[in-house]
Amino acid sequence: MKKSIAVIRGDGIGPEITGEALAVLEAVAGKFGHEFALQEAPMGGNAIDRFGVPLPEESLRTCLASDGVLLGAVGGPKWDAQPPENRPEKGLLRLRSGMGVYANIRPARMFSALTAACPLRHETADKGIDFIVVRELTGGVYFGEHRTEMRDGERIATDVMSYSEHEIRRLAHIAFRMAMGRRKKVTSVDKANVLTSSRLWREVVEAVAKDYPEAELSHMYVDNAAMQIVRDPSQFDVIVTENLFGDILSDEASQITGSIGMIPSASLGDPGHPGLYEPIHGSAPDIAGQDRANPIGTILAAAMMLRHSFGLEFEAKAVEDAVNSVLAEGGRTGDIMEEGKRPVGCREMGRLIRERIQAG
Ligand code: NAD
Repeated sequence: MKKSIAVIRGDGIGPEITGEALAVLEAVAGKFGHEFALQEAPMGGNAIDRFGVPLPEESLRTCLASDGVLLGAVGGPKWDAQPPENRPEKGLLRLRSGMGVYANIRPARMFSALTAACPLRHETADKGIDFIVVRELTGGVYFGEHRTEMRDGERIATDVMSYSEHEIRRLAHIAFRMAMGRRKKVTSVDKANVLTSSRLWREVVEAVAKDYPEAELSHMYVDNAAMQIVRDPSQFDVIVTENLFGDILSDEASQITGSIGMIPSASLGDPGHPGLYEPIHGSAPDIAGQDRANPIGTILAAAMMLRHSFGLEFEAKAVEDAVNSVLAEGGRTGDIMEEGKRPVGCREMGRLIRERIQAG
């Protein structure tokens, strides 16, 4: 298989972690006979330094022409004084909207070797955690009308949460397609006992479910979902929800599986369009250039690209299994270090994972 990948190395630890993820992809290509052509797409603070803007047009074009985009992280104190419109993070927002990605996929997966780091009770953690949150990314209250007005001598602030049927429908299709490649269970999370937008959400998700008769759909109120995620996360396979609820639940989910350095995410749009793959953390300027960053979040983001954009499930699994093996053998970067384990740097962690893939 031949695929083109746009690479945004970014700032801070971005170049270190993307370097390791790209080397892992090269190992996958060598082992399984694929060809991945890389195109650099500068974005973030480094792009401000070189081109005066956080997302040059040429970079967006490169991303749109690719089969998938791999992003490290952008930003850092050097660019904090930039005007709001020209901050590195603005580049990221422009990239997401330019790529038309409307679904954020956040896996909550516990690697068996890291069970001890799980803040949940042992008997809960031992049942395993392996679900994904599919969050709507471009609608809802974040994108509704925001206004503050004076009424009867005091300020009143209003934020509007609205959803159209097509926004809900296209997201629900992504969630069901994901579930069909997994354990075929979709939990739609809403607040239909209070919100009109949630009642429409429920109706549309139920209509979409008819296209996936093998999948099991259930509904859960968001307050209950927040409790169930810490009470018994093993009950979930795919959670699908709107923007604000998804923001909160996906962060809750990432807390129960370990370090911020371990977690990947994907942002997807319509089928056939490139997806955006990145770790959930930022550019960690405090440890940049010191070979201390954990590259696993970015390596797992590359695995998600193999699975969701290239349809290479076997290869994606090979990467995830390699990560699990290295952790099981005791290799740990500083952020996930435990007593009795072997400390390794960013480069060594990447090398061990590649070795496992080649040996596997
Ligand atoms: P951060 O995620 O960069 O760092 C928070 C803490 O986690 C730091 O102590 C850091 O050292 C640690 N950490 C993060 N990733 C790690 C990894 N892979 N391995 C080991 N430790 C890791 O968040 P922050 O400090 O709030 O933000 C730093 C910069 O990143 C800011 O400029 C911010 O705007 C930017 N940012 C970018 C993105 C993105 O590019 N998607 C996301 C969040 C923040």
